Amino acid sequence: MEARGVPLLLISHLVNIRYLTGFAGSAGMVLVSPRKGLLWVDPRYTLQAREQADGVEVIEEKKGILKSAALWLRQNAARDCAFEASYLTCTQFELLRKEAGEAVHLRPAGDLIEELRIVKDRDEIAAIRRAGVVTAEVFAEILPLIRPGVAERELAAEIDYRMRKRGAEGPAFETIVASGVRSAYPHARASAKALQESELVIFDLGAILAGYAADMTRTVYLGEPNRRVRRLYTAVLKAQEGAVWSVQAPSPAGKIDATARRILAQYRLARHFTHSTGHGVGLEIHERPRLGKGESTRLQAGSVVTVEPGVYLEGFGGIRIEDTILVGPAGPENLTPASKDNWVIC
Ligand code: ZN
Ligand code: ZN
Repeated sequence: MEARGVPLLLISHLVNIRYLTGFAGSAGMVLVSPRKGLLWVDPRYTLQAREQADGVEVIEEKKGILKSAALWLRQNAARDCAFEASYLTCTQFELLRKEAGEAVHLRPAGDLIEELRIVKDRDEIAAIRRAGVVTAEVFAEILPLIRPGVAERELAAEIDYRMRKRGAEGPAFETIVASGVRSAYPHARASAKALQESELVIFDLGAILAGYAADMTRTVYLGEPNRRVRRLYTAVLKAQEGAVWSVQAPSPAGKIDATARRILAQYRLARHFTHSTGHGVGLEIHERPRLGKGESTRLQAGSVVTVEPGVYLEGFGGIRIEDTILVGPAGPENLTPASKDNWVIC
């Protein structure tokens, strides 16, 4: 804050509040000043905030936490306060401006906290590592349940249930199970469709543990794959492994994306790879850095990113393989260690 010339920072994004204070409730407002941090909560969260929040003074407010924070600015003769422009609605901003008064200059803070979150500390990495292990174990567990006749939604339910059974808080995002032509939609939702013989099936899953997410995709084939399917799978696997290998600090993030595209191009499949290669993972399933085309941001040791190239052929199906990768000081480390070889289910 000092380096950016920000004397006061109002934080409304719950994930950032959790990151800074440990408070994990569904409503709260934090103000960081050079001398102290304040956390406003409503009475539903007073006890939880006192228990979880670290390094901040908890203030219980019955009539609007944003209004209360704004009044604090007015009463303390604040002159300059930064806020999270991406996480305040227009209505909230109007209220803040009205209650804080004319004397306070309100300005966007930029992505101050998001930038801090790019490099994970030891505890954060440990949490993602555990989430990754649960994710990989759950996938290994449901492999025997994958057979013709079972509905996509049933497998998604099994995955979510087994995550919780293994100690996860739940799935970090809506589990994707997409079979046959539906596997060509990169973000299909699990439907009532039953799996059939001679189909590709994409599973995209991730457990959340201690607030931290993992993200993994595996693709399987039901039956004996023909040459075309084998070639597609090999291409995506090679692209994924090559791209994982290129996850090295301080490479530019775009280099990982370029590696995946270059390998797919060798199989003439580059135009079927329609999304970026990966994203940061942590308290949120999609965070910084973005592993997209031409991204110049350099990878830093301690970041956790996904690597997930895929090819999608309309009317035929799709293949994606994704792992959550720790950018280690000595190279990449896979945090979602599920096999990619058991992809043929006969
Ligand atoms: Zn995913
Ligand atoms: Zn992902």
